[in-house]
Amino acid sequence: MFLKGKTALITGATSGIGAAYAAALAAEGAAIMINGFGNADVIAAQLEALSKASGAKALHSDADMSDAVAINAMVAMCNGELGGADIVINNAGIQHVEAVETFPAEKWRTMMAIMLDGPFHLMQATIPHMKAKNWGRFIATASAHATVASPNKSAYIAAKHGVLGLTKTVALELAQTGITANCISPGYVWTPLVENQIPDTMKTREMTRDQVINDVLLAAIPQKKFVMPEQVAALVVFLCRDEASAITGANLSVDGGWTVQ
Ligand code: NAD
Repeated sequence: MFLKGKTALITGATSGIGAAYAAALAAEGAAIMINGFGNADVIAAQLEALSKASGAKALHSDADMSDAVAINAMVAMCNGELGGADIVINNAGIQHVEAVETFPAEKWRTMMAIMLDGPFHLMQATIPHMKAKNWGRFIATASAHATVASPNKSAYIAAKHGVLGLTKTVALELAQTGITANCISPGYVWTPLVENQIPDTMKTREMTRDQVINDVLLAAIPQKKFVMPEQVAALVVFLCRDEASAITGANLSVDGGWTVQ
């Protein structure tokens, strides 16, 4: 339990990859603040399991990552109740699949706010605590789409390219402290985010479910299988280790070979 005494704040942790991060960090003893939306009973059960695993506190914030005021309130709550975030994971994200020509401008703005503005506000608000401790870990779940493009995902791809640039910049600004900042870039991970885009893609491309899975989602994946959330979470745990202290400003792929060049 090498994270005993540390606190992790993870956005978008009520589901999918973020929930796997929370479980993996709690298993190493970290107090956890999960952020995200969901059913109150399900979240209460998740908090109970996290706290049982870590032997430390686990709290939830439903701060909307597109809202800077809510983000600052979440950080204040984390400072007050958990002593401040030592590990901050920018992970909340949504998807919308549509060509640029008809992509709703409002949707574009919301997606940029959640996946690019939100991480900026959260990092800005949590740097002082990490600096005071001279230790910290910023991790962002970017995506294979932080470096390559696919049709019909303009806002997502622009935001993911952006969060990679933001995280690299923070890594340089904090390079002479005990704080690192890195992106993890998964390919297709089997979570509700991926499952929920299948119907839209079926409609946009006039395909069956199996065709979307094999001919679109896994088409460019050499391993021809989805990544599992636990595989991504294991890398987060490694990045929190002292052995990973020289890894900063990196974009680490977990994508079954998708972005091999
Ligand atoms: P998911 O849909 O399972 O979970 C998304 C989480 O974000 C949920 O907890 C949800 O409540 C939260 N969320 C959504 N909007 C929010 C908002 N406005 N404010 C706060 N929280 C909000 O998705 P996932 O697949 O686990 O994705 C997590 C991250 O991983 C996303 O950033 C996504 O882009 C990235 N990613 C996913 C895949 C994949 O294949 N699943 C691949 C690469 C990158």
